Amino acid sequence: MTENMLEVTGLGHVYRAKEQTHTAFGDISFAVDRGEIVCIVGPSGCGKSTLLRCLSGLLRPTSGTVSLHGTEVTEVPDELAMVFQDYSRSLFPWRTVAGNIEFPLRGRELSKAQRRERVEEALSWVGLSGAATKYPWQLSGGMQQRVAIARALAYRPMLMLMDEPFASVDAQTRAELEDLVLQVRAEHEMTVLLVTHDVDESVYLGDRVLVLSKSPASVVETLSVDLPAPRDQIGTRGAEEFVRLRTEVAQRIRNTAPTS
Ligand code: ADP
Ligand code: MG
Repeated sequence: MTENMLEVTGLGHVYRAKEQTHTAFGDISFAVDRGEIVCIVGPSGCGKSTLLRCLSGLLRPTSGTVSLHGTEVTEVPDELAMVFQDYSRSLFPWRTVAGNIEFPLRGRELSKAQRRERVEEALSWVGLSGAATKYPWQLSGGMQQRVAIARALAYRPMLMLMDEPFASVDAQTRAELEDLVLQVRAEHEMTVLLVTHDVDESVYLGDRVLVLSKSPASVVETLSVDLPAPRDQIGTRGAEEFVRLRTEVAQRIRNTAPTS
């Protein structure tokens, strides 16, 4: 069963500062079904982070609309969580790791014990069970990002937006976190929109891959990824179809990249 969860129609965003204007993107349209993982790839600076901020309701688009379950997004919806590219600004420095993960759960109908359980579970998911009482500034950048991911997962949002979430972690942790997203999506029926500049990652995680053009971005291609589930780091990445898809995505990006 699928249903349109997120609908993006003719979305545009123009940054204005004094006399200068910069069009991040002019006209982006796509839809995401419930339970889907859609990966967004595109050249650096093409507007991916701006797009996610518009989808989340944090930034008001200058044209077009975003609807979640048929309702236009004008502020950050309750059922949404976001993992930012810039981990250093996403955690509360005065709260412990456990406190950071627990904080958004206060808006959920959960008992104190249930909240604690969720925090512990999320910390074990990201391999940070020992860090519950530490403060963000006592952790490495990669660890802070894992806390931000744990916080989003513990919240169990219907829709999760992730902006290059694994860029600051090592390769082994990255593979584990990719599989964690797949696992949590399967167990808790989450819809995920994930921006990455890693072509292989977009194919490994995505049910679909959206390729954006260079700035100002537009959707140049939507590829369906028909790889069997459950995916696995060795089998899936070695499959002929995986190699074919990654080549196709890479070519699409290259064709849209600036030539100068
Ligand atoms: P990406 O995430 O794809 O690398 P961004 O969405 O961060 O791209 O940025 C898209 C374009 O908008 C870039 O050219 C960037 O310099 C510009 N931009 C981003 N944020 C701002 C801002 N707050 N004010 C003005 N321009 C911005
Ligand atoms: Mg970005």
